[in-house]
Amino acid sequence: MFDQFALHERLLKAVAELKFVEPTPVQVAAIPPALEGRDLRVTAQTGSGKTAAFVLPMLNRLIGDAVVRTDVRALILLPTRELAQQTLKEVERFSQFTFIKSAMITGGEDFKVQAAVMRKVPDILIGTPGRMIEHLNAGTLVLKDVEMLILDEADRMLDMGFAEDVQRLVGECAKRQQTLLFSATSGGAALREMTASVLRDPLHLQLNRVSELNEGTRQQIITAENTEHKEKLVHWLLANETYKKAVIFTNTRVQADRLYGRLVAEGVKAFVLHGDKDQKDRKLAIDRVKEGGVKVLVATDVAARGLDIEGLDLVINFDMPRSGDEYVHRIGRTGRAGGEGLAISLICHNDWNLMSSIERYLKQRFERRVIKGLKGSYMGPKNLKASGKAAGTKKKKIEKKKGTEKKAKPAGKRPNGAKRESPSPVVSQDGIAPLKRKKPTAE
Ligand code: AMP
Repeated sequence: MFDQFALHERLLKAVAELKFVEPTPVQVAAIPPALEGRDLRVTAQTGSGKTAAFVLPMLNRLIGDAVVRTDVRALILLPTRELAQQTLKEVERFSQFTFIKSAMITGGEDFKVQAAVMRKVPDILIGTPGRMIEHLNAGTLVLKDVEMLILDEADRMLDMGFAEDVQRLVGECAKRQQTLLFSATSGGAALREMTASVLRDPLHLQLNRVSELNEGTRQQIITAENTEHKEKLVHWLLANETYKKAVIFTNTRVQADRLYGRLVAEGVKAFVLHGDKDQKDRKLAIDRVKEGGVKVLVATDVAARGLDIEGLDLVINFDMPRSGDEYVHRIGRTGRAGGEGLAISLICHNDWNLMSSIERYLKQRFERRVIKGLKGSYMGPKNLKASGKAAGTKKKKIEKKKGTEKKAKPAGKRPNGAKRESPSPVVSQDGIAPLKRKKPTAE
């Protein structure tokens, strides 16, 4: 409920009017520290509810103050006109029961009209960096009284070449008391630099697990007949792939021990980590892998939590993780700091549907790989539903409805240039990842 936040009653009234009932995860995480005045660095995608996460604290700051304004008090910088329009709409909806005035200035619109808007001095100004700089140069924009600065989709602004403009505008807001920086991805060195120079003692909030996936990590699947077949595949991969360090994930302790036993019997130097191992074993295993004496770790998700091993470049999912988040968590460890990584999931018939829903969650299609000489009889389901899941005989009725099915939107960048084959990955209706994710299950 939104009344858990210390928001002004007029803002809560607007929230209720908009029929927002439950705050989204990014709102739960960001609103309280923002209300306390903290600087924030938030990774969250469009669709997560991030706009309200910064608009509500911003309005709350402006609402109570009896300051006679002479200049803009809050500035929202963002990359595109479309986003500016959406954001203005959201600001207007939330401020409907207040006297707070907002305006937007972006490229592609009449400069003089905008200058006239600026003369009326809105409390909140929303806009793109290029046009703001033009107004600064023309003397039609004054930012010296800005108290709160928001950089929305900062990663995209940098990608679009706005770094210098943003830096200059930030410099103009010299008296600001609070800065919130939002980005859809964890970004690269330029974003880190900007974060360091713009934010004061920021709180980092990472709401977007998908963004942890490294672009440099190839993601593959290999179909397998059964556990024995998977074990043979693991053995082959460890013997034939080039890697510095590898982690093999299983879903159960029993399977982790069994696989570890097989590997050791085959002469592979490995360690196993799972919930039955005590802290001493865990430390020993992690240290050995870190030092490089042991290259292979067999682990369950719970045991591997918090594991941060440098140079980890091969992840094998012996079993498919039970949720998209867990998958990202496993794979997100590879290919860090721009390095290359390889993630291979071994897929039996009972892993298929899970794999297919994770593909949809990530809006990616994994590369299909076959290892010569180790091809099994199972190559995936004979018939697939539009979702990519296995089609059972009972579900035939669905075929009839095909004409009414929603068309999938094109997926984003697929790794390795992997072509999308039939079936297309289905994205949620609005093309965004759902707000609520399935909680990762314990081992
Ligand atoms: P955003 O990620 O800020 O672009 O928001 C995505 C959409 O979700 C917008 O249409 C918001 O109005 C809506 N939205 C944001 N927060 C909530 C919420 N707590 N409950 C319902 N809808 C929301």
